[in-house]
Amino acid sequence: MPAEPPTTPAVRAIEAAAAEGRCTNCEAPLPQPRPAFCPACGQETRIAAPTLHEFAQQFGGAYFSTEGALWRTLRLLLTQPGELTRQYLAGRRKHFVLPLRLYLSISLVLLLMVQLMGQITVVEGLDRPELAIAERGPLPNAVLDVQGRRMGLRAGVFVCEGLPTLLCQLVHERAAPDTRTYLQRLRAANERVVSHLGVVMFVLLPLFAACLKLLNARRGMPYTAHLVFALHLHSFWFLVLLAMQLLQPPLAWAGLPVIVVYTLLAGRRVYGGAWWARLLRGLALTAMYLLLLLVTLPLAWLLALLI
Ligand SMILES: [Zn+2]
Repeated sequence: MPAEPPTTPAVRAIEAAAAEGRCTNCEAPLPQPRPAFCPACGQETRIAAPTLHEFAQQFGGAYFSTEGALWRTLRLLLTQPGELTRQYLAGRRKHFVLPLRLYLSISLVLLLMVQLMGQITVVEGLDRPELAIAERGPLPNAVLDVQGRRMGLRAGVFVCEGLPTLLCQLVHERAAPDTRTYLQRLRAANERVVSHLGVVMFVLLPLFAACLKLLNARRGMPYTAHLVFALHLHSFWFLVLLAMQLLQPPLAWAGLPVIVVYTLLAGRRVYGGAWWARLLRGLALTAMYLLLLLVTLPLAWLLALLI
């Protein structure tokens, strides 16, 4: 068993409340026999790791519990890496905005911002002047060249090199019957991929949580506990990305070391273990995540191109 993760006074207080049969949310004493919900604050008194059903329930109800809960949640998320996850898993639920709700709200703001600023371009160079001419001209040429893989129309003939045959067929049939259609499809795909990002994240997040479980298997925590941590981590990352969108490039790059340091600190608080081990897990996690992104992002773009 690796070293216990470091604890905080708040987490100790929650654990003490649980041990003494008090409410883990507001720490009020509970009557005997124990009711299903705390008479003081209304949180349920059973505090096993959250079930998938509980996650689903977070969709319903008021969007934010209260404004106070929102600021409390954001403050803890921003100032103490991993602490929000620890307190949630220890049993303090109603006190904060629930993980899925927090994540959905922040990602919604980020997606809106990205869409407004239009800064995501999967296929670049579509505004080249010769492409604008090709779109109108008599001898249409529009070939995309990405590291030796070519796809497009040359003198009106479809070319597809260095790519799977099935993919070539699909693109030819669905998106490239002629140059004008092809260029319009490419532009539309660039725009639509942003609206597909939300869907991509919904696929990536459970996979990311699975990576966390794999890397921290010895902790024996249930999958949903890793999912809570994944939601909190992404909420923080998205907040940093939001800030990076607002700042100018030299200053905005400061967001990247912030993300790395925060993630290491949060990982240590939630899972514990020696620093070198956390660093190794961090590296492995980054590699796994990049691989997942490398597969899902082009897939989302292809879907946007073909459908
Ligand atoms: Zn209570």
